[in-house]
Amino acid sequence: MSANTFPAQIEPFKWAEQGFVWAGTLPLSRFVRISREAVGSIDDQLINIDCKLSMDAYHRIVWLSGHVETKVSVECQRCLNPVEINLVSDFHLALVDDESLIERLDEDADFIVLGESEATTKGSFDAPATADLLSLMEDELLLLMPLSAKHEFCEHKHQPAVEELAEEKRDNPFDILASLKGKLN
Ligand SMILES: [Zn+2]
Repeated sequence: MSANTFPAQIEPFKWAEQGFVWAGTLPLSRFVRISREAVGSIDDQLINIDCKLSMDAYHRIVWLSGHVETKVSVECQRCLNPVEINLVSDFHLALVDDESLIERLDEDADFIVLGESEATTKGSFDAPATADLLSLMEDELLLLMPLSAKHEFCEHKHQPAVEELAEEKRDNPFDILASLKGKLN
């Protein structure tokens, strides 16, 4: 494994104690769900990542923080031609292995309860909690994907009335992510 290989699965508590940091680029194809939304070739597209794990041992909380950024071309909902969108997230996420620990967080802290997201598993007696960090970062960017991407200026290909109706009916496929990601209010 080269020093710059992004790890597929990590044990958040162990790796945080070891001070895991990673910075570099990966092909956009590693973000499978975002790639699926793309139109045209994504071969030259990259993801820029800068992330680290840190441990708040006293509160038994692991913090995943950093920056992730990529560009993807999706179909413009107005003219149906590709429109490039920038996805940029500065994240600071608490990874907790027990819901009861949430109350120790600041009110405006973002958190993930291990085992509740597809990208994480909860630890048990013989298997430690694991997380797919790349997938967690992809989740952050998916939350930023516009429901209806459009160029700033372009021409309708449909009759506006028809399009507006269709737009209203379209559910956001990523709503589930928003519900997994907690926010104390
Ligand atoms: Zn357009």
